[in-house]
Amino acid sequence: MTVSIHPSVDNGIKQGSKDFAGGTLTCKCTDKPVKVSVKSQVLHNHACGCTQCWRPKGVLFSVVGVVPRDKITVTQNADKLKVVDTAATIHRHACKVCGVHMFGRIENTKHAFHGLDFIHSELSTESGWSPPGFAAFVSSIIEAGADPANMGAVRSRLKQLGLEPYDCLNPPLMDALATHAAKQSGVLKA
Ligand SMILES: [Zn+2]
Ligand SMILES: [Zn+2]
Repeated sequence: MTVSIHPSVDNGIKQGSKDFAGGTLTCKCTDKPVKVSVKSQVLHNHACGCTQCWRPKGVLFSVVGVVPRDKITVTQNADKLKVVDTAATIHRHACKVCGVHMFGRIENTKHAFHGLDFIHSELSTESGWSPPGFAAFVSSIIEAGADPANMGAVRSRLKQLGLEPYDCLNPPLMDALATHAAKQSGVLKA
């Protein structure tokens, strides 16, 4: 049996559109849904196995990417949003009713990824979003209840889909984090 990674990639990766400029994210509420306007293509989109990112119920991986924070505007029912965990690095603004994370924001201005908001493009009906390009925090799905004995099959399926599996972020993003830290400590000249 093929391992299901996420409904948006299970039948193969759909390429994004070159000139795509964003869309509207809508939570799962049928009554008064929260709507968020995103005026940007998604960047660094990836499958994420961590236990913090939102995903549909029963799905193994989240699909999450980033957009510049100034490209995000809550346009409807902002009063339903609440930060899931204010102690976490990423403040995930979720709908209090359906639980969907509408956007995640890093408020620490010293963080390497400050200025980028995390979004789930599957909450939009528009097509043209850049698809996920790798898989992060793969081993962490075990913490969410995945069978450790099945990890070989999960990683094979990710590779087959062209989503290189990593157990943290991919090398370019890990390098960006380390470069930022080295500049802050003075090891590297800023
Ligand atoms: Zn909702
Ligand atoms: Zn995650």
